[in-house]
Amino acid sequence: MIGDPNVRPSDDQSELNYSSSISEIFTQFETRSSGLTGDESARRVQKYGKNSLIKPRKKSIYIRFLANFTHLMAILLWVGGIVAFIAHMPQLGIAVWMVNLINGLFSFWQEFRAEKAADALVQLLPLHVRVIRDGITKNIEAEDLVPGDIMVLSEGDHISADGRLIEASELRIDQSTLTGESHPVKKVADPWYDSGFSKIEYPNLVFAGTSVASGTGLAVVIATGMNTEFGKVADLTQGIEEEKSPLQQEMVHVTRMVTIVAVSIGILFFFMLITLTSVTLASSFIFALGMIVAFVPEGLLPTVTLALARGSQRMAKRNALIKRLSAVETLGCTSVICTDKTGTLTQNEMTVQKIWIPGASFSVSGVGYNPEGTITPDEVNIDSGLLEDLHRLCVAGSLCSNARLIPPDHETDPWTILGDPTEAAILVASEKLGVHYEEENSQYPRIREFPFDSRRKLMSTLHLKNSDQILYLKGAPKSVLDLTSSFMKNSRLYPISEDIRSEIITVNDFFAEQGLRVLAIAMKEITDDDQIENSEDVEHNLIFLGLIAMMDPPRSEVSEAVKKCHHAQIRIIMITGDYGLTAKSIARKIGIITTDNPHIITGADLDQMNDEELKRHLTGEVIFARVSPEHKLKVVEILRETGQIVAVTGDGVNDAPALKKADIGVAMGITGTDVAKEAADMILTDDNFASIVNAIEEGRAVYSNIKKFTGYIFTSNTPEAVPFILFAFSKARIPLALDVMPILSIDLGTDLVPALALGSEPPEPGIMDKPPRNLKEHVITRSLLLRSYLWLGPIQSLAVMSAFFYQYWTNGYWGKIFDLPAEGPLYHSAVGMALAAVVTTQIGNVLAHRTERSSIRAAGLFSNKMVWLGIASELVIILIILYVPFFQTIIGTAPFPAQNWIFLFAWAPALLIAEEFRKGIMRMIERHKISSSSGGIS
Ligand code: ATP
Repeated sequence: MIGDPNVRPSDDQSELNYSSSISEIFTQFETRSSGLTGDESARRVQKYGKNSLIKPRKKSIYIRFLANFTHLMAILLWVGGIVAFIAHMPQLGIAVWMVNLINGLFSFWQEFRAEKAADALVQLLPLHVRVIRDGITKNIEAEDLVPGDIMVLSEGDHISADGRLIEASELRIDQSTLTGESHPVKKVADPWYDSGFSKIEYPNLVFAGTSVASGTGLAVVIATGMNTEFGKVADLTQGIEEEKSPLQQEMVHVTRMVTIVAVSIGILFFFMLITLTSVTLASSFIFALGMIVAFVPEGLLPTVTLALARGSQRMAKRNALIKRLSAVETLGCTSVICTDKTGTLTQNEMTVQKIWIPGASFSVSGVGYNPEGTITPDEVNIDSGLLEDLHRLCVAGSLCSNARLIPPDHETDPWTILGDPTEAAILVASEKLGVHYEEENSQYPRIREFPFDSRRKLMSTLHLKNSDQILYLKGAPKSVLDLTSSFMKNSRLYPISEDIRSEIITVNDFFAEQGLRVLAIAMKEITDDDQIENSEDVEHNLIFLGLIAMMDPPRSEVSEAVKKCHHAQIRIIMITGDYGLTAKSIARKIGIITTDNPHIITGADLDQMNDEELKRHLTGEVIFARVSPEHKLKVVEILRETGQIVAVTGDGVNDAPALKKADIGVAMGITGTDVAKEAADMILTDDNFASIVNAIEEGRAVYSNIKKFTGYIFTSNTPEAVPFILFAFSKARIPLALDVMPILSIDLGTDLVPALALGSEPPEPGIMDKPPRNLKEHVITRSLLLRSYLWLGPIQSLAVMSAFFYQYWTNGYWGKIFDLPAEGPLYHSAVGMALAAVVTTQIGNVLAHRTERSSIRAAGLFSNKMVWLGIASELVIILIILYVPFFQTIIGTAPFPAQNWIFLFAWAPALLIAEEFRKGIMRMIERHKISSSSGGIS
């Protein structure tokens, strides 16, 4: 239900809420720290309306409808119709206008369907927010937010309503959408009494349309929908239209070029007819018009748009949501995929397998997030002091986590988690030792968090311990070690020496080489009352407690996808925040790394490299490890500089620049932040690397389908033009086999559905065995034109003219081609034969165009049902034209003997076989080229 946009959520909404205390804010908005109840929020949605901006006004549907009847070509046809009427050929005038009408309707219908497909995709991407309602944190759709709701904010979240902060921890907000200032601003929860600021500058207010750059917080919603600051300026930004993709632009260009060529040819023929033949002026004009209509590919652009939209729908089914249509075509050109490891190549389902503390190591049993299992020492006799160390490590690990374990609802359900899998795995391992998060947290309540950051690669939490405080910290071992000065062994403290440091690193490497992800845990008791402003004030001189090593198995589909990429000559570069040896081990398991000595470049190495050095390193097998998002950006930039088309994955806020910079930014749908999703071109709903490869395959298929129907449409132009050419050059001694009306019935009748069917071909076998297409390559290539106009087109023309003469020859004019009767029943039945020959050869032609290189047998003769529907539609239309008297009169056909169909149908396989033969030769030449380029050694 949409509420009245004029109703303000409360009068208080218009007031500044910055100076109220938190309890005053609660009273003002009739809410509490446990949030609204379900009933109350439903009531408020009724009262204040949905939290959405009023939709931008699109161009009126009528204007868009009319646009299909008023473009250059349409105007030409309207005028052509008028001339036909003036020339006393009302039949033709009506036909030309009908053509225009059908064509316009068809284009509009395709445009409309493409738009609906794009709208449907947008609906697959609702924005979600986390709120506290009924005392629990819930994920709701952003449009259900109401004033009084408590929003839970964390790094990367898109803020969907204006709010007053009631809690903030290291919170920084990117307000650039409102202020243009890209530097994130610090926000706090305290009341603010100074009133000399503009509303946006208040540090305790957050605004819709902005996003959380770092930190966490809670905010009471104070304004929603059009009442937010963003809503007030949204009107200014609405109505921006999506630009045409390069392919669509090319199609506009192609259609325009072909129109110009067609019109020029038409004019040329007009003059040839009036000078070379005795054809009347009016008839010459009509012929010229026919030529133009025959050549102009009117339906090409809307069919391309539809093919792109259909491609994006197919990608959505394969878990890849496309945000811009042009991304569909770029995807097909991707030559490098820069991918994260955790969650994309691996399952992001962590299970702790090993724990190491100075003096002992332990094995952890159990599967998944079920906290059933044991932690057993790897050695038989172990001091009780070491067991205390283990217990301390588990307490530290769980308290320094934000994840939660969710028990199953039914016996058969598995345990699930809320939050970060790395942290959940630590909670599970701790539970196995009998360390329960809730109990520990009530004993040592958390008072502050220094959130995880992919640059620091660690996080810490501050807890109360009686009157003192205690800090727990966890993170990447080397980062943690840099902050420690002592270690715990047998419940006693020792200074960290070089020996123990190198022992810790050796153990870390040993785990990492098995593909395990390793985290170090540390702690520190704080007894003095030092002011703690930021993490640096406390994160030093820590006590090292131990290492936790967890398994994150590769996704099962990934190895196959990696193989596909290798065949398709697409490089895969792993760019991970994880440790080099862990990354290498996983990369080897899934086949990204095949050589003995891949190059492992760390973030620190990258900092030392200049661009030229990096370019050199980017040639062989390479893994980037322990990198931060800035490094990812650098790698993407350099790859693009070397001419690669780069797809890059990302999930965090800091990944946004790299996602934007890449040709295809790929955000993770499950673990990705809103900011990453916003910056990306494509969103993976399953976070799976294999889905990127599937999307690339679909992207390649869309492009080749567009080529297929373009080729198909161009081919039938030849047999439409040849009769005119013969007629003109024979000075009208060869009768015109296909007049304007039959041509129109092909272009706007029989050809339509088969062309659409080619647009929905599934990916051709072997489409991923070719190198990536060059982004600059055009749809209309020389080979496409040669195939259409100089190979398939002439075969079709031969069929059409021979069918035309066949009817004369079998009716007393054996062997004659000149001076045949050009009117009367025999002529009209010969025209019927010629028209039917176009249709039967188009059956062979549509099947021939289903594949570019591979044999139709490999693609499966019946794998695209639409094609057979298209063939059926062609046959029905031609039968109507030939046998229904009304259409016979309009189109100018007459029936011919039934046995002639044998002659006509023989042409369909003839054309297909000829094309199969050509493809076979092409494949042979390709194979020969490959074997000779590899020196003849296979
Ligand atoms: P990828 O970049 O492939 O997704 P990643 O998850 O390892 O890999 P980051 O999330 O940037 O990348 O993490 C970098 C490192 O930070 C990890 O290898 C781990 O050592 C440490 N780390 C990850 N999550 C946490 C966490 N919740 N708390 C503390 N340290 C963490």
